[in-house]
Amino acid sequence: MPVKNRFAEMLPEITEWRRDIHEHPEILFETHRTAALVADKLKEFGCDEVVTGIGRTGVVGIIKGKTDKSGRTIGLRADMDALPIHEETGLDYASKTPGAMHACGHDGHTAMLLGAAKYLAETRNFDGTVAVIFQPAEEGGGGGREMVDDGMMDRWSIDEVYGMHNWPGVPTGSFAIRPGAFFAAADLFEINVTGRGGHAAKPHDTIDTTVVASHIVLALQTIASRNVDPVKQVVVSVTSFETGSHAHNVIPETVKMKGTVRTLDPEVQDLTEARMKEIVEGTAATFGAKAELVYKRNYPVMVNSEEQTEFATEVARDIAGDCDEAPLVMGGEDFAFMLNARPGAYILVGNGDTAMVHHPKYNFNDEAIPAGCSWLAEVVERRMPAA
Ligand SMILES: [Zn+2]
Ligand SMILES: [Zn+2]
Repeated sequence: MPVKNRFAEMLPEITEWRRDIHEHPEILFETHRTAALVADKLKEFGCDEVVTGIGRTGVVGIIKGKTDKSGRTIGLRADMDALPIHEETGLDYASKTPGAMHACGHDGHTAMLLGAAKYLAETRNFDGTVAVIFQPAEEGGGGGREMVDDGMMDRWSIDEVYGMHNWPGVPTGSFAIRPGAFFAAADLFEINVTGRGGHAAKPHDTIDTTVVASHIVLALQTIASRNVDPVKQVVVSVTSFETGSHAHNVIPETVKMKGTVRTLDPEVQDLTEARMKEIVEGTAATFGAKAELVYKRNYPVMVNSEEQTEFATEVARDIAGDCDEAPLVMGGEDFAFMLNARPGAYILVGNGDTAMVHHPKYNFNDEAIPAGCSWLAEVVERRMPAA
């Protein structure tokens, strides 16, 4: 069974929605226009219930099947937020907001889920209920966590959740997935080093925090190479290094660093946090300085449930003829909070040979829409077959 014909027919309309959303990107929880557009469309499609303001700016639409003998509810989730990137695509529908851009394809995810919602509300060819979930703040803000904390899963008795992300490098319209750990836990840290500032020509009178902080940066790299089992994964990246001095001739009293840790295993996560604290405090002490680590666990590991992943794979295979095994991704994914709350699966749909997500020249590939929409709709129709 290839893509559903209905979505081939709807392609121009869904593409138009996608490009409109693309032109008006909104960051984190500020997805007001997008959420309003989504809510209006869901009402227009005849959803049985449309609720805004879930997890601040999230939207949930409820579509009831022809029957409800199963008593089951499936959640389909898309993300709506953009990134603080200045768009360089030169497209005629490029971002109208300087410094904001749909560089992760969430415009495409939102449009595809709207397309699936329109079709499901039209046909209702299933036995149960669908919750279409549109979340804000996937890009680091934890919008998925907020929606779960808002009681979404219990409020609509959601049994399973399914999500989808486009992926450059995977052929357009084909799919890739993996069971178990898929996206990494994404933690944030800050390191504050305090020494003694002074004249750059009299270093012996100072405790030079730039030298101390530089040693810390290098020593942190030994966690991956010397502490963690080489067959397991960890990334420790210091991404910001800011000294308290902006002069050529002043040794700064303080240095502030920021960065991220990515892991796929709770034991490795614990070990990494513990070693970071020892390295930060111990290295500073060696030089007579002080340093503290502030470590924040942000997104947990995103784990695909076995059974639902097998089912999701079958659906993808029937649409695209095949479904590849996706590689592990050390990026974080907010859908982890929904998958921690309910069993489900997250799949990648091919975006073809385009720039990678988060690149200023990236663009969602509209040719992926029929396959993406078909998968979303088929998940519902096959998981809760019409009675
Ligand atoms: Zn992203
Ligand atoms: Zn994304």
